[in-house]
Amino acid sequence: MSTVAAVGYIIAFSLFVLGLMGLTGPRTAVRGNWIAAAGMAVAIVSTLLLPGMGEWWLIVLGLVLGAAVGVPAARRVKMTAMPQMVALFNGVGGGAVALIAWAEFRDTAGYLGLPLYVAVASLFAAIIGSVSFWGSLIAFGKLQGWLPSRPVTIGVLHRPITIVALAASAGYAIAVMAGATSGWLVVGVLVSAAFFGVLMVLPIGGADMPVVISMLNAATGLSAAAMGLALDNTALIVAGMLVGASGSILTNLMAKAMNRSLVSILAGGFGATAVSAQAHGDDRPVRSTSASDAAIQLAYANRVVVVPGYGMAVAQAQHAVREMADLLRGKGVEVSYAVHPVAGRMPGHMNVLLAEADVPYEALKDLDESNALLPQADVALVIGANDVVNPSARTDPGSPIYGMPVLDVVSSKSVIVLKRSMGAGFAGINNALFTDPRTSMLFGDAKSSVSDVVGELKNL
Ligand code: NAP
Repeated sequence: MSTVAAVGYIIAFSLFVLGLMGLTGPRTAVRGNWIAAAGMAVAIVSTLLLPGMGEWWLIVLGLVLGAAVGVPAARRVKMTAMPQMVALFNGVGGGAVALIAWAEFRDTAGYLGLPLYVAVASLFAAIIGSVSFWGSLIAFGKLQGWLPSRPVTIGVLHRPITIVALAASAGYAIAVMAGATSGWLVVGVLVSAAFFGVLMVLPIGGADMPVVISMLNAATGLSAAAMGLALDNTALIVAGMLVGASGSILTNLMAKAMNRSLVSILAGGFGATAVSAQAHGDDRPVRSTSASDAAIQLAYANRVVVVPGYGMAVAQAQHAVREMADLLRGKGVEVSYAVHPVAGRMPGHMNVLLAEADVPYEALKDLDESNALLPQADVALVIGANDVVNPSARTDPGSPIYGMPVLDVVSSKSVIVLKRSMGAGFAGINNALFTDPRTSMLFGDAKSSVSDVVGELKNL
């Protein structure tokens, strides 16, 4: 490696680490993102300075095409569609690694004369990259609503076929490592791994999607690191390991937040219970309320806990919510925000929205703090949240989300839920909170409802 490239790589790695440090808090996240992006730019330029670079028109074409697709997509994407975008970008990374592994096989005439570790690392990268690409596409389809978010299987043979696909992929890879040079074997590796990726993600239900996305993200990082090993490229190894390690930590945190082990998520099969939970009848009446009644209830409370969810993000109600909280504070009401780790559609979704509306960070309470606070609250104001406040996660062993830690809003003295209808949340299941005698429903788009409450509060 040239000295210039080596120095460039060291600068890039330092920027990656600084960028990651910035991403640990909402105040420094944007700066962290820019620093990491600058690191990636330095890594790309350093790579292009490596001896033996050629086919410049192809490289420029790739850069132009990537920028032409990526920049407008990232600029236009709505905050609520960010998880799909992350899934897609992550998948493309895995797909690129798989294609590089294939190209490397062709370039070296089947790893001819190369040490065994090159073939092992390259084929490992091909398998994981292909799994990540196709698995991410399925996750994208589920989040985008193009595929059902409920668990989907091809019947009793689903699990055996999934295992056969993985075994076939490994088998083809072993044949190549043993010296076989047919290009079709690598095609077999990629196609079988693709089947495995699709069949692995299809049976995973909506509520578990955050864990799957971060797991696939970690897998892409791992495949890039393996490819770096095969190509003897330090930048790929370090960047891949950073993505792999941070993705693994996030997967672990998300699985803990859902109270699920990764094995039980990957084992899937929540479909049957989802149907049975849907079938549970609930004949209790629904009490609806008006903005003026809700405003009076809130204004005369001592403590209000706001519980934001995906609906607040869809309605972009965060600024109105902040205004409402300011008015309530002006009337001597103590207001805090209960933030569930998987509320919304991406990790930290609520934190980002509330930070954007200048909600003081100290007012945000995590799951445990909130559950300690809720029994003393006079009103729990649920704004577009559903699954994260579903009491069946605590009380109904037949529920698909049973065991997932939720915000215990029913422990507060009263609950007001803002949503448009009695419709289900992402997990697609009923919510007995809406018919609880302590709950009143304020139907409508969250932003208009909160704005109406703000108007009423100003008149009180
Ligand atoms: P949720 O369970 O998806 O429910 C959101 C609710 O918002 C819906 O029931 C919907 O009811 C309401 N809503 C939608 N648009 C609205 C609007 N304009 N105004 C008012 N209400 C509106 O949301 P959640 O409680 O935040 O739970 C998140 C779910 O997503 C969990 O199941 C989680 O596992 C999953 N998930 C999370 C992530 C992550 O990383 N955070 C990623 C992927 C999936 P109406 O239609 O009746 O209005």
